[in-house]
Amino acid sequence: MQKTNLLILDDKEENIISLSALLADLEYVNIISSTDPNEALKICWKNEISIALVDVQMPDINGFEFVSLLKSNPKTNHIIAIMVTAISKEDKYLLKGLESGAVDYLYKPLNPEITIAKVKSFVKQLYIQEELKQKNSALEESRKELIQLKEAAEDAKKSKENFLANMSHEIRTPINGIVGIIHMLRGSELSTEQRDWINRLDSASNSLILIINDILDISKIDSGMMKIEEENFSIRQKLEDISHIFKNRAEEKKLDFILEIDPNLPEFITTDALRVQQIINNFISNSLKFTDSGKITLKAEVTDQVDKNYTIKFSVTDTGIGIQKDAIEKIFLAFEQGDEGITKKYGGTGLGLAIVKKLAELLKGEITATSEYGKGSEFAFKATFKKVDGLGQGKKDQKDTINKLQSLGPLKVLVAEDNELNSFMLTHILQSWGCIVDMVKNGREAVEHVNQENYDLILMDTHMPVMSGFEAIRAIKNMDHIQKAFTPIITISASVLEHEQAAAYEAGADGVIEKPFDPSDLHQKIRIVLGKGATPS
Ligand code: ADP
Repeated sequence: MQKTNLLILDDKEENIISLSALLADLEYVNIISSTDPNEALKICWKNEISIALVDVQMPDINGFEFVSLLKSNPKTNHIIAIMVTAISKEDKYLLKGLESGAVDYLYKPLNPEITIAKVKSFVKQLYIQEELKQKNSALEESRKELIQLKEAAEDAKKSKENFLANMSHEIRTPINGIVGIIHMLRGSELSTEQRDWINRLDSASNSLILIINDILDISKIDSGMMKIEEENFSIRQKLEDISHIFKNRAEEKKLDFILEIDPNLPEFITTDALRVQQIINNFISNSLKFTDSGKITLKAEVTDQVDKNYTIKFSVTDTGIGIQKDAIEKIFLAFEQGDEGITKKYGGTGLGLAIVKKLAELLKGEITATSEYGKGSEFAFKATFKKVDGLGQGKKDQKDTINKLQSLGPLKVLVAEDNELNSFMLTHILQSWGCIVDMVKNGREAVEHVNQENYDLILMDTHMPVMSGFEAIRAIKNMDHIQKAFTPIITISASVLEHEQAAAYEAGADGVIEKPFDPSDLHQKIRIVLGKGATPS
């Protein structure tokens, strides 16, 4: 513990000697004394004095004046001043001392016990204050650290979101072009062989989309942004479609692919078809990856039924490498794989099953995995679904190819898109729907074109050089020319982040379409913003 400096100021040396002797035994107190108030003031400025015992009656400066001087100086106003007096205990004197800034009195002749007790209690008070001060500054330090950590976490979250938004944009934009061209080709005259190539191209671009979606999905789930969208669909058709897709891939590896459907399985159910398919696809993709010979079986069985509620178990069994017992729990954790050699030999991100598990929870179902190392595995997803009688209104099971989509008429459309493949694809699609298309490469050119021409519709990419889509939308929506300001605008967003899509609406967009989009969805969106009565999707 640090010593407390205590000043004794008394014009009589003998008083100083007796008071010092009284206090000599006090622990942690360092006594400094003076008979001259001016010298005492200097001592107070120079030394860290904490307590001053001040004689009241002194020739030049009396004790009250001395304490007032201490209190008026910011360097010394913290000093605890105790008046030592022989004069009367009358209230007016007491008041004078207190008004000058003193906190207590000691009366001459000094009572040794009271004197020691008082000084002791002030020393203790000082220590408590000091301790409080230290704790306060420690608290303040940790508060600052916490704020810094919070800011760092927020920054990290923001940069992760930005990274996702950018990566999503960079990857989705070219995929959008590829998907669009595939659709255009599908609508053209093709030989059987070419149609097969197109199917393969389609499945490759789908895999690419799946990988990027996986990464986006896990961060969406982690931030609670993943939403389940229910729709009526044919579960039997879906299983047939899935098995059709994977049969070809199984054949390539000389594996048998078997689909077993329980006769009790309803035709139509209502749930998030995309997510159910995502779970099953994931199981099958893994089985395909980890099986070199034998077969893969996709099975759908009804394990329970109460009225229209069917509990269905979708299982995928393979005759692959299997999984060791101690690894089976951890494979459901993000970025975890069965063993260290897996990435080297088979690749993969270790994200698939983590997403599957979380999706199953969102669908109020469960995932199970059983495996025999070296022999094969079974992955299953079980949940309860409602049976429905049909697809419901406005639902289409199959997407139309673009050339089958109705002409939109000679609409004058401005396409603002910096990616060449995308603007080429968009122009072609729009022209096939009878539109007259102008193309620009950035927001500023879009605003200039709108100033010169009247358009029926604008398709605006959000991320563009020179001037972004958002800025361009704001500029157009603020134009004085009413007709131009009301031109319907659909933004083409490569971002799956909701706040970016919300920002498009805030800027004034009338519709948003996500990249990669299906041309039939674009057709429908255009009809909606032009008020041509299509059912919103
Ligand atoms: P990825 O396959 O991309 O690494 P997953 O999360 O889909 O990530 O799978 C995690 C791990 O689980 C795999 O790396 C593999 O070790 C194991 N695994 C999953 N399915 C199978 C399977 N059918 N057979 C053997 N191992 C599997």
